[in-house]
Amino acid sequence: MAQTKHTQILIIGSGPAGYSAGIYAARAMRNPVLVEGPQPGGQLTITTEVENYPGFEHEIQGPWLMEQMKAQAARMGTEIIADWIMSVDFSKRPFTAIGDSGMIYSADSVIIATGAQAKWLGLPEEMGLSGFGVSACATCDGFFYRGKEVVVVGGGNTAVEEAIFLTNFATKVTLIHRRDELRAEKVMQQRLFNNPKIEVIWDNAVEEILAESEPRGVTGVRLKNLKTGDQSQIKCDGVFVAIGHKPSTELFKGQISMKENGYLIVEAGTTKTNIEGVFAAGDVTDEHYRQAVTAAGLGCMAALDAEKFLAEHE
Ligand SMILES: Cc1cc2nc3c(=O)[nH]c(=O)nc-3n(C[C@H](O)[C@H](O)[C@H](O)COP(=O)(O)OP(=O)(O)OC[C@H]3O[C@@H](n4cnc5c(N)ncnc54)[C@H](O)[C@@H]3O)c2cc1C
Repeated sequence: MAQTKHTQILIIGSGPAGYSAGIYAARAMRNPVLVEGPQPGGQLTITTEVENYPGFEHEIQGPWLMEQMKAQAARMGTEIIADWIMSVDFSKRPFTAIGDSGMIYSADSVIIATGAQAKWLGLPEEMGLSGFGVSACATCDGFFYRGKEVVVVGGGNTAVEEAIFLTNFATKVTLIHRRDELRAEKVMQQRLFNNPKIEVIWDNAVEEILAESEPRGVTGVRLKNLKTGDQSQIKCDGVFVAIGHKPSTELFKGQISMKENGYLIVEAGTTKTNIEGVFAAGDVTDEHYRQAVTAAGLGCMAALDAEKFLAEHE
C-alpha cells in the first residue's frame, strides 16, 4: 500500500528558492518536507564559476554553493527527499502530491519552486561546454568575457538585450538569427543596430560549436545559411544561447493560474498563487530577473507567506 507523509509545508524543488524556503520554514518550526526533483540543486549545478552570489569575495562553484544551501536547510530541520512530484491535487486541503516513488505527500501548505530550464540549441557538444564558453545567461557570465568576442543566438527581446549588455565587456558581439528580421521590440532593435560593437548575421543557424580541449573552451561556431545552404565559420570565445526559457509548470496546468508562456502568476509583492495556501517562488514565477539571489529571496518570502497562512488557520 502507498505510504503517506504529512507535512505542514511541502516544498517542491531544490534550487536556491526551494532551499531558502526550507531554511526559513524549518526555523519557523514547521518541519518542512522538500522534494528535490529531477535536478537536485537546480540550475546552478550545471555551471562552474558564480561571481555574483553575495557573501563570497572570490568566485565559487555553482554545485558547491548548492551543496552548502542543502546542508544548511537540512541542519535547520528540513527533511530533504530524493523524489520527483508527478501529480498534485490542490482542490482541497490538505493538499496532496504524488511522488515518482509512489509516496503520497499530504500538506497543509505548498511552496512551488520548480524553476525553469533554459532552452538550448540541442547540439551534441553544447551541454559539455556549458560553463566552458557556452552560457544561457549574459547577466551571470558576461563579466568573464572582458576583451573577448562572443556570439549571441536568437532574435527575440532576450537575445537583443543580452547582445547589448554583452557589449559592456566584449570587444565584438555577433548576433546570429535564423530569420531575416528580429522579433524584439522596435526600440530595442534600434539600439542594437546603432551599437558599433554588434554585427547581425541573418538567416543562419549554428550547426556546431567549435572548441578545444586543453584548456577546455569555445573557439568558434560553424554556421549554415538556411536560404542558400552555404556553410561558414566564425571565431569567438563564448556562445550565449538566448532562445528563451521554459518554466517547469506542466504539472500544475489546470490547477494554478499561469501565463500563456507557463510562468506561474502570483499576487504582486507576495508569493501567493490563486489557491489559498499554495505559494510559488523563484524562476518558476520570474521570467525577468532569473538569478540565484532573487530566487533565494523569493524562497524566503514564500516560507514567510506560508508561515503566516498556517498561523492564521490554526
Ligand atoms: C548555466 C547557468 C548558469 C547560471 N549562472 C548564474 C550565476 O552565475 N548567478 C546567478 O545568480 N544565477 C545564475 N543562473 C541562474 C540561476 O541558476 C537560477 O536563477 C536559479 O537557479 C533559480 O532558482 P530556482 O530555485 O527558482 O530554480 P532552479 O534552480 O531551476 O531549480 C528548480 C528545482 O525544481 C526541481 N523540480 C522541477 N520539477 C520538479 C518536480 N516535478 N518535482 C520536484 N522537484 C522538481 C528541480 O529538480 C530543481 O531542483 C545560471 C543558470 C544557468 C542555467
